[in-house]
Amino acid sequence: MIHIECHCHGRLRELLPQGQRGCRRLKLKQRLTLYELLAMLRIPHPEVDLALCNGESVDLQQRIGDRDRLHLYPSACGMVESRPLQRLRTRPLRLPRFILDVHLARLARRMRLLGLDCWYQPGTADDEIIRLALAQRRTILTRDRGLLHQPAVQHGYYVRAIEPSRQLQEVLSRFDLYPQLAPFSRCTLCNGMIEAVDKERVRDQVKPQVYRLFEEFFRCGRCGQVYWQGSHYERMLRDLQPWLVPEFSGRSDGPGAVN
Ligand SMILES: [Zn+2]
Repeated sequence: MIHIECHCHGRLRELLPQGQRGCRRLKLKQRLTLYELLAMLRIPHPEVDLALCNGESVDLQQRIGDRDRLHLYPSACGMVESRPLQRLRTRPLRLPRFILDVHLARLARRMRLLGLDCWYQPGTADDEIIRLALAQRRTILTRDRGLLHQPAVQHGYYVRAIEPSRQLQEVLSRFDLYPQLAPFSRCTLCNGMIEAVDKERVRDQVKPQVYRLFEEFFRCGRCGQVYWQGSHYERMLRDLQPWLVPEFSGRSDGPGAVN
């Protein structure tokens, strides 16, 4: 029997069941690699930046042995070490671009409304999501830990919150996206960029009443959807506003939901 001690730090603790978030003492029938151990604990490997085994940084292929003490960190930032640390995560992506799985339609809509680059298409298979994430250098956002356990996944994040507005706040905070926000710059239907368009050019695409009431119109460069800053747009932004502040831990309540 193999006995190991496992300590999770920071936001990795949220991935463990209540009551098991301190030091966990595990008994294993055989030695496992770090990758296998993370899968067993249901901790997605893309969320672990640094693993110390008996004080030494190790990679995912490291076999964890009897009496080993393991510390897992979501980020190695701020650690002062005389020796270079071996990071598990590949370098962070330079541009914040995301791909969302089928369960996160409402989060995708909110993120696009704020101008964030979010690939989302219902019915996309997991393999295709992983392929697109790698090809387009996107971070996978998902509520399915199984997707993040796939060995090919490099950048991914398990969204903890269930309610879409809370999910939005969580993702904005986790990836520090507040400086990137550019509301009304991206199409909520297809993720294309929208641009101002002469009023006369959309005459046939909007209702006469809308055409009369508004002077400024915008159009998606990809799908052609026409937008104007009507009451629905202002209402959505107003409803989202309370969530556009950094998340702090321990928050137990929040503003109402946006559908
Ligand atoms: Zn569009």
